[in-house]
Formats: sequence, C-alpha cells, structure tokens
Amino acid sequence: MTLTAEPQVKVATHCPYCALQCGMSLSGTAVAPREFPTNGGGLCQKGWTSGSLLTTPTRLTTPLVRVDGELVPTTWDDALDLVARRIAEIQAEHGRDGIAVFGGGGLTNEKSYLLGKFARVALGTSQVDYNGRFCMSSAAAAGNKAFGIDRGMPFPLTDVGKADAVLLIGANPAETMPPFMQHMRSAIDAGGLVVVDPRRTPTAEQASLHLAPAPGTDLALALGILHALVAEGLFDRDYVDSRTRGFEAVWQIVARWWPERVERITGVAAADQRRVATVLANARNAYILTARGTEQHASGSDNVSAWINLALALGLPGRAGSGYGCLTGQGNGQGGREHGQKADQLPGYRKIDDPAAREHVARVWGVDPGTLPGPGRSAYELLDALGTDSGPKAMLVFGSNVVVSAPRSSHVAERLRTLDLLVVADFVLSETAAMADVVLPVTQWAEESGTMTNLEGRILLRQKAIDPPAGVRSDLEVLNGLAERLGQPGERFPVRAETVFAELREASRGGLADYSGITYERLHDGEALYWPVTGTDHAGTPRLFLDSFAHPDGRARFVPVEHRGPAEPIDDEFPLILTTGRVLQHYQSGAQTRRIAELSDVVPEAYVEVHPDTAARHGLADGDWAEVVSRRGETTARVRYIASMRPDTIFLPFHFPGAQRANLLTNPALDPTSRMPEFKVCAVRLTKKDGAE
Ligand code: SF4
Repeated sequence: MTLTAEPQVKVATHCPYCALQCGMSLSGTAVAPREFPTNGGGLCQKGWTSGSLLTTPTRLTTPLVRVDGELVPTTWDDALDLVARRIAEIQAEHGRDGIAVFGGGGLTNEKSYLLGKFARVALGTSQVDYNGRFCMSSAAAAGNKAFGIDRGMPFPLTDVGKADAVLLIGANPAETMPPFMQHMRSAIDAGGLVVVDPRRTPTAEQASLHLAPAPGTDLALALGILHALVAEGLFDRDYVDSRTRGFEAVWQIVARWWPERVERITGVAAADQRRVATVLANARNAYILTARGTEQHASGSDNVSAWINLALALGLPGRAGSGYGCLTGQGNGQGGREHGQKADQLPGYRKIDDPAAREHVARVWGVDPGTLPGPGRSAYELLDALGTDSGPKAMLVFGSNVVVSAPRSSHVAERLRTLDLLVVADFVLSETAAMADVVLPVTQWAEESGTMTNLEGRILLRQKAIDPPAGVRSDLEVLNGLAERLGQPGERFPVRAETVFAELREASRGGLADYSGITYERLHDGEALYWPVTGTDHAGTPRLFLDSFAHPDGRARFVPVEHRGPAEPIDDEFPLILTTGRVLQHYQSGAQTRRIAELSDVVPEAYVEVHPDTAARHGLADGDWAEVVSRRGETTARVRYIASMRPDTIFLPFHFPGAQRANLLTNPALDPTSRMPEFKVCAVRLTKKDGAE
C-alpha cells in the first residue's frame, strides 16, 4: 500500500519517544492525543511538545564534511562517495572488522533490520551493536533463561490495569511515562502498589509501600522477600511443581537469606519484606514489573532472575490476569533488539552462531551463509575498542548519541577521536555528530513511515504525517546509497519502508519473534498484533505462556543467583553512592528534548539530589553548584535538597551534555551475560565547585 503525506490532514500516528508509544494525531506539526490502549488518550509533556521537533531551527538539512577541523556543507553525492571510498580504504588495510556500526533503540524495525543487514552483507563486519544494550539487555537475558523467550511484557498493558497488586522494581513511570500510571490505578486503590526504588520518586509517592534499598542491593532484597514467601507457606506449590523446574536449587540459596539478614544489607525492614510477600500472595491478580533501576548493574541479569524467581514462586507468569514483565524504555527498544542490529543476533530474534538461523537469513538475503560474520563486540566493548590495534578504525552511527549516553563518556569521546573516520546520521547536530568527519542529515519520525514494537510486543505503524525538509534523506536511503557505492545491488537495500518490512517478515519467519503474518494493511486497519504472528490469518499472541513456556519441555526455569553487590563499593575516598536516571521533561541523551524550549526552560541544567544533612556536611546549600567526582571523572550540577533521599545516596539525571554529563562518572563494569554497564551505581564524592558562591 502507498502511504502519502498530506499536510494538514489529520494522521494517526505515535509519539517519537518512549516505548509506551502513545497514540497521537498530527495535523501538520500540531499534536493531539489519540485514544490508544497504552495511553488511554493521554500524553506526557514530551509527547505534547513533540511537534516542535519537526520545526526545530537547529535541524540539519545539508550533509557536512570536516575540512581543516571544521564541518562544512557538501553535497549528498560527495558525502556518500567520500564515506564509501574511506570504508574501502580502511577495510583494505584493516580487514572487514575495521568498520563498526552503532545503531539505536529508537530506530524503526525497518531501519534496525536494514542496518544489521548492511553491516553483515555490505560491510561484512561483525562489529555492530546498538544503544539498546544499555537499556534492557539484562532483562532480555533473564527472560530468555527463565521463559525461553524475551518479550518485555508478555501480556497487554491493559491487563495490568485490572490487578490488585503490582510490584514495581527500579521503575519511575510517573515521570518517565506518565500515562502508564492509569494502569496502576486498580492496584493503588486496592492498597497493592509496592515500589522498590532507592529514591522516593513521584511513582513511589503513590505506592502503598515504598521500599528504598541501598543502590546495588536489589538482588538481596528479592532473596529476602522470596525467603519470607516460602517460610510463611505462601508460595504456589502446585504451580512450581507443574510449570517450572529448578526451585530446589534456588531455595538452597534463598534459605540463607532470611529477612533480618537482608535488612542489614539493604536497609529495608524485615517486616516490610514479609508484608510484600503477603500482599503479592494474597492478591487475586498480581504483576511483578522490572525496569532500568534493577537492570543497569554488573549483576543486572541476576537481579532480574531473582525477581523472576519470586514471580515463579508466586505462580504469576503464564497465569491469565497475572505475570512478570519488563518495562522497555526506548521507543523501539523491543523491536530494535529483534531484527539484527545486536552483535549476536540475526532477524527474528535468531542467534548469529546458530547454523540453521544463518542458513535461513542468508537465503532471504541471497548470500552464502558462510559469508556472514559471527558475533561481534557488545556496545561498550565496541566503543572501548575503537581505534585500538585490534579494534575498528571507523564507525557509522545511526540514531545514537554515545558521547552523552555511554558510560565513562570522556573515555568514549577519546576513543571516537582516535578513529580514522566517524560518520553520524542524525537530524540535529548531537554531541556525537559534532565530533564526526561526515554528518548525514536524515528524516525523523513524522516525516517517514515505519513500524515500531512497543513495550508489550505489539507492532505499530508510525505513519508519515508531513514531508521532510528539502535536502534530507531517510536512513534507508543512506544505507542504499552507501551499499550501492560498496558494490551491492541497489535492490538488496530497498529505500521504501514497506518493501523492507516485507523482507523482514520473511527473515523473521519461524524465528522466536515471528513477524511473517504482519502487513502494513493489517496495521493500518488497526489490528492489535503482538508477536509472534505466524501467518496473515493468525491473530497474533497478546498473551504468551498461558499454556507453556518457550523451553522445549514447556516449563519455566528458576535460575539460582547470589547477591554480590555493586562492582565499585564506597570507601573513604569516594564515600557516597551515585545513582542516575531520567526526569519528566527529558528523554535519553536529551539531543531532542533539550531543543524544545517548553521542556528545556523547565529543566535547563543538571542538578544533583542530595539529602540536606549530607549536603550540609559537605558545606553545600540548596542551589549551590557542586562537583561530583568518581574514579572516572567529574561533573558539575546544581544542588537540590531532597529530604527523602537516603543520606548515603545522591542522584543525577543523565540528559545533559559537556561538563554536566552524569556519564562522565558512571562505571562501565559489565554484566557478564548481557554486557550491560553498571549505570545505576558507582562510588563518588561531593564537593563545592571551585569559585562558586
Ligand atoms: S514520551 Fe512516552 S509517555 Fe510521553 S507521550 Fe511519548 S510515548 Fe507517551
């Protein structure tokens, strides 16, 4: 089907930001909320103001190339010729893996798919990964272990809206995705919303019970609650016996983590741990939902496994009206990791080292499976290797701003500076684009059609609503232009999203994330399609696991995990715990939201939340400029007194650039399974900024 842009015609589409993918309508650039199950007709401030992105005066409309240290305008042909020539030269000297590709969790399914194909086929490089690795790969790893499949929420969000108990761990949807909170109303009214978060966030304010463990001790807390559940005979023995394996091995560990012992490590009262066990066990319908707060740790996969173990002991996953889920953050965090821009995956959530998967995908791509590279480096390891003897010498970045969003970001910037070639495709001059040798101005959300997969695993059609400004091209056109210059047949890299999607359907056919039955027509007609959708007459799978889990024997797995605490404990030199997160007005690296006056006027600069006693001990008044220092760097932020903060913990939002980057401080210690960095906890000290009044 053909989707045409007709300015001023009301086009049904979705928000450009987070994974809630709220329904909205666009008339030109005017945004109006639209009734859709995830948002129920609501939008947050980011969604309401997203039309401003389409008219931002900082929009890039001309390719830029670096000459004598300055980025200067050039033509598309010259820019693409230059990039292709340099790629060929670098690969001739350093081999196929001399070129890296870095994608993003905001890219549409079509772009994610074509980017992975471009890396493996046109470049022949294994060095491809994406910023979704920073987002929820730990939950994905734990979900795969427990259930044999990773779909963030294996049920529609509206199901959660009927529950009388919800345990939210490391999630702050009241700020990050406010329309989500309508689905918490039933649990709030029943006195069953429990929030686990070191901070008393706006979400925690609405909870019946707020548990504030020391950052990095979530796993111990999960063990304590599970201990209480079993010790008090509240766990679901029949479910454990009939639908799971491995409980005994988990209990051998959990038996040693009685609530009083857990209280000493986490600071959460034993009585509160027991109360949570009782609330969840007595609920008619209950959900356990995790997010970045528990995932972004060097033990992130194990943390999530511990919460899934609790959910399994309660008999929640695969029971109608109950379950375990993970709240995906980025707009296409779910779809972005299913179709091949991840270092170890091929489309359809296939593993790149599985011979049958390689055979299938290579056939769809029309290439010899033997030519497909194997797994590459994970996101941070890839960034860390740039410009080293064994690492890539060039990188192409699509939809990511790693200079702000990657951990230990000054080191990442240093690695970028050593590259022979850095190419960034973006629609504004992000901090990463500003460092590039070549900048390619591309279309943004409402200027192009494509599909997104929201936090429920539901596939959505985000329709083109307006024409792009003259001079910009879509990412698909960029990949096509480069592929042709690298000797590929142009038709192998289509520029039309629907054509790419048709190929994606075939590549995903038979995989875990099977999109083969999804068409643009079905999406356009408003069908609610949750993967897998195995044929055009298949209605999709809104609820997974009702009959069986995705392991060969149909049973879920308990996974034994031990508490080990943060990779970097506090000490005399760095005596405070830093945790990081988002604020209502900004999204991810802020490259988009910092350009919207209505948002940046409200939160224009970095701040650090500190308990007043802690601040006073450091000689800091409310509103002072402070320096926060870790072993990796220092950042500047304005002090905010927050009486509800733990005295041992401070908080920085991570949306700000330059000297206010929270990620100058964060620890790149990686989870051994998911390779996710430990964004959520590191040791710091706090001082008054030199020269500040
Ligand atoms: S940012 Fe998220 S919660 Fe806010 S309007 Fe967009 S999709 Fe909805």
